[in-house]
Amino acid sequence: MRVHHLNCGSLSEIETVDGRGAPARAVCHCLLIETAAAGLVLVDAGLGTRDVARPAERLGADWISYAGPVLDPAETALHQVRALGHDPADVRHVIVTHLHNDHIGGLADFPGATVHVHAAEDPAGHEAQLAHGVRWRTYADAPGEEWGGFAGVQAFAGLPPEILLLPMAGHTPGHIGVAVDTGDGTLVHAGDCYFYHGEVDRPDPVVHPLMNLIQEANESDRTLRLANVDRLRALARADAGKVTVFSAHDPWEFSRLT
Ligand SMILES: [Zn+2]
Repeated sequence: MRVHHLNCGSLSEIETVDGRGAPARAVCHCLLIETAAAGLVLVDAGLGTRDVARPAERLGADWISYAGPVLDPAETALHQVRALGHDPADVRHVIVTHLHNDHIGGLADFPGATVHVHAAEDPAGHEAQLAHGVRWRTYADAPGEEWGGFAGVQAFAGLPPEILLLPMAGHTPGHIGVAVDTGDGTLVHAGDCYFYHGEVDRPDPVVHPLMNLIQEANESDRTLRLANVDRLRALARADAGKVTVFSAHDPWEFSRLT
């Protein structure tokens, strides 16, 4: 399956912890997957055209001041799907890692899509992002399979078995990761389970001081989240070369993949 890595929303510029990488703007890392049987599948929707047009109303002054979104219409998934030569109506499925505004702002740009989300996510507080009328498909925790150290792994309804739901709670109660077997290795989109590559790709893990403050202010269950970061670190290390783990906002992971 062909997979495109899209940045659907540049945010404030941040520095690396060890100074080994150049400063870069944080991203909203989304995937556009071309499937044979289920059309186009988007993983996370980033910021959408309505956010760019009416940021204060949709995103709030607080979030805008700390996240520093660039708000470029060309970065929306809608624009990038068109730029790749696709019809946005062919985006038939959107998988969202969790219901935070920087992951669901683009949903209104794909009103015909089925939106796949964990049942434990709470739509309250996101009325503007969801007001267009979302066609939900929700997933409760289930026995499921074990994959990559994660238990209760499920397939998504109507999607090919190469795309899997990885329960990854902790940032939010129903936060999920998404594994995509591309045929040339497996991508694991870890959403906001962690924010900085140094948390998973070093034997001596480091957090990003600024990003970690934001994580601590937003996470719903630190113990669960850190257990999932441990799983991701083990997965990335055990299957290096075959499995690529990345998170939603780290710009250095994004640039490695594009
Ligand atoms: Zn986020």
